[in-house]
Amino acid sequence: MDKKMVYFYGGGVAEGSAKMKNLLGGKGANLAEMARMGLPVPPGFTITTEVCDYYWKHDRSFPETLEADVEAALKRLEEVSGKKFGDKDNPLLVSVRSGAAVSMPGMMDTILNLGLNDETVEALAKNTNNPRFAYDAYRRFIQMFGDVALGIPHHDFEEALNQVKEEKGVKLDIELEADDFKKVIELYKEIYKKAGKEFPQDPKKQLWIAIEAVFGSWMNERAIKYRAINGIKEGELLGTAVNVVMMVFGNMGDDSGTGVCFTRDPNTGENIKYGEYLPNAQGEDVVAGIRTPYPLEKLNEILPDVYKQLTEIMDKLEHHYKDMQDIEFTVEKGKLYFLQTRTGKRTAKAAVKIAVDLVKEGLIDKATAVMRVTPDQIDKLLHPAFDTEEVKKAQEIGEGLPASPGAATGKVVFSADEAEEFAKEGTPVILVRPETSPEDVGGMNAAEGILTATGGMTSHAAVVARGMGKPAIVGAEEIVIDEEAKEFTARGVTVKDGDWISIDGTTGKVYLGKIKTIKPQGLEGEVAELLEFADEIRVLGVRANADIPRDAKVARNFGAEGIGLCRTEHMFFEGDRIQKMRRMIVSKTVEQREAALEELLPLQKDDFKGLFEAMEGFPVTIRLLDPPLHEFLPNDEEQMKELAPQLGITVEELKEIVENLHEFNPMMGHRGVRLAITYPEVAVMQTKAIILAAIEMVKEGKKVKPEIMIPLVGTVKELKYLDKIVRETADKLIEEAGVDLEYKVGTMIEVPRGAITADEIAEVAQFFSFGTNDLTQMTLGFSRDDYGKFINDYIEKGIYESDPFKHVDQTGVGRMVKIAKDYGRSVNPELKLGVCGEHGGDPESIEFFHKTQLDYVSCSPYRVPIARLAAAQAAVKFKRGKFVNYAD
Ligand code: ADP
Ligand code: MG
Ligand code: MG
Repeated sequence: MDKKMVYFYGGGVAEGSAKMKNLLGGKGANLAEMARMGLPVPPGFTITTEVCDYYWKHDRSFPETLEADVEAALKRLEEVSGKKFGDKDNPLLVSVRSGAAVSMPGMMDTILNLGLNDETVEALAKNTNNPRFAYDAYRRFIQMFGDVALGIPHHDFEEALNQVKEEKGVKLDIELEADDFKKVIELYKEIYKKAGKEFPQDPKKQLWIAIEAVFGSWMNERAIKYRAINGIKEGELLGTAVNVVMMVFGNMGDDSGTGVCFTRDPNTGENIKYGEYLPNAQGEDVVAGIRTPYPLEKLNEILPDVYKQLTEIMDKLEHHYKDMQDIEFTVEKGKLYFLQTRTGKRTAKAAVKIAVDLVKEGLIDKATAVMRVTPDQIDKLLHPAFDTEEVKKAQEIGEGLPASPGAATGKVVFSADEAEEFAKEGTPVILVRPETSPEDVGGMNAAEGILTATGGMTSHAAVVARGMGKPAIVGAEEIVIDEEAKEFTARGVTVKDGDWISIDGTTGKVYLGKIKTIKPQGLEGEVAELLEFADEIRVLGVRANADIPRDAKVARNFGAEGIGLCRTEHMFFEGDRIQKMRRMIVSKTVEQREAALEELLPLQKDDFKGLFEAMEGFPVTIRLLDPPLHEFLPNDEEQMKELAPQLGITVEELKEIVENLHEFNPMMGHRGVRLAITYPEVAVMQTKAIILAAIEMVKEGKKVKPEIMIPLVGTVKELKYLDKIVRETADKLIEEAGVDLEYKVGTMIEVPRGAITADEIAEVAQFFSFGTNDLTQMTLGFSRDDYGKFINDYIEKGIYESDPFKHVDQTGVGRMVKIAKDYGRSVNPELKLGVCGEHGGDPESIEFFHKTQLDYVSCSPYRVPIARLAAAQAAVKFKRGKFVNYAD
């Protein structure tokens, strides 16, 4: 290796800096940076992550020249510290510490007090005039070295220590004296022997073994697991650096101590100094939790000068790094040393508050603030969560797909009706179903949460729950439901109707019993402010998918700039409307159908008006009837018997109608625009309802922007046919009313043929909305209702990187979108382009849609805040938009 492998700092100089995190690890880079800033840091040197990489790629061996480089650095360390490694009079002691580019707290190893042996320990005792301290330090080193570097069980050492304590009849380490520690050391050496190991007396030998142990710990089980959990791919980081740092001692008496502090409160984000201090202790004592530390302020009582210096430097560090810092420090005989600083981990709440406060304090710009909070954190703040302590104790009985975030607890019910009954009495319930259908919507709304045994991320239950902002878990296949017996079994536990369960729609986990939930914080205070920053930065518009005025209002409050998708069919399920809809479906003649539609018209008109009002002049995209008609009719005999007379037909007739409507593959059946081709009068009625509602708005002096959307178009001829009908109907009404009203007619792009003939379609359509659910289904040929059974095999084998219904498949479906965009805009540069599939609320997909230069995304109301943030982050990342001064 001809690269520089060792970076020195100390004595007022530093070869490294904070910019070199990849090479020196976070710890090493920041130690160098602090030395550069002239802060009191014990001198030391860092061996680069490249050496770690070399080590693992070369059969656990080091580059040839490393030894000489380490020797040279050690010499400099001796000069700066005025001590000598292994010296009988004034020995240099060091710590050997791990530290990768990404902080992995406690995952790898650190060894303290290295350099002690039978000789140097005596020098330490003499120089400090504190034999107890010296022998304690020595036995700690032997223990840590044995455990970390040689793999001797930690437990064996603890046992020996306890033995000495017992013999002396004391309970605490602090009650032991120098001679006791000498005994402990003898016992420790025995332990080495029994384990067939040798404790090296030569400090150089100790150092090399320790360096190798730190590099070795890069691949220990803990560290590998940590990286996996945190989404760090193997090979993404080079490895860990090794920091060799002069020891300073916090355990030299009452004017010594050690602590950890944060420049702001990591739980709330409040701008107060926060931390802990333990007098007369070495760093590991705090972490090990053997003694309970004091709150940081205690230091102000014990050592006021040190406290003053510490808080001043805390401010300096936060200003320098422009973010909240997590700092480790040690006081040795009244002198303060900084051992580490890093960006502090924080709760979602604190992340938002700190980002916003730092903007107000002028430390960072808005673009930086927006990058400091993840969409997940915003999501967390908007949904209830379980009490962390209670959930730890709860019994997990199953797991499914985390379909709609948030935590809910309630009594189990197995039918929508039951859910509504209980809810009326104010009893919280969890609706448990094999799957849900449109008839269950009332019960879903009444329930606290929804749990289904089947279905995927775009199943009915998932989509509707997200729209309602209700926690939901779907496809929990471990749960076996017996609807007859009103019970389910999961992992050997039987849960009966009325028993309490708790579900976490954020993690997908199901728990037995009641768990306390914590209310979400809502869109107020700093969260609202942060999202306003996001709005200033983003170029993508954010709309909501909302079908009823209540959802539209929620969406508006969350900052939606319009409705990107109103699914009109949902309006037909409410109350007695379903009967009118059914009468329309069973009509034998056009006249009968028109009569039934005539009854639906005023109801639809009122719905649309409510949506227009909620949207306050922002565009409202209304999709004409989309699902196959059989979804509106019952399947079972009993219900048909009840329904037939109400519809004025015989049961036989109704059965025949249902049978005729049956389709082998309804997703590709008689639905979408195809319905309107067969029954144009339905489209006429819906157009009338939309336009009449809009006319009323105009007459009331209110702004309104209706957009009529034709679903499932595969050829321009379908659109031409409908466009003509819609426009004739609309224009006639507008003319009759004598008002000024503009409206748009556009289409969904969700059939591959539609996407690749987008240039033809754009001749007619004023806008495209990509229905990425259907587009994914049809482009991949994956049935949304069935893909759950095999998608994990695909992901495990790396064929698809992730669930294509969750994160848009950029290579395939994404290309469809790009092609349609390019073709469409080539004939109509004004063409408005949006997305209204579930991907519209997924940050990763939003980034893609930003890059593809669409105009807006539309998502369920509760995802609107997430989409606003994700869109702003995409704008910052790809430097397209209105932000200024975004550094790094
Ligand atoms: P981690 O990455 O797990 O935080 P560190 O390398 O920071 O591990 O070491 C753990 C503890 O050991 C620190 O909290 C610090 O207090 C103590 N420590 C490390 N190096 C030294 C040193 N040179 N002098 C005194 N204490 C040290
Ligand atoms: Mg540390
Ligand atoms: Mg569709």
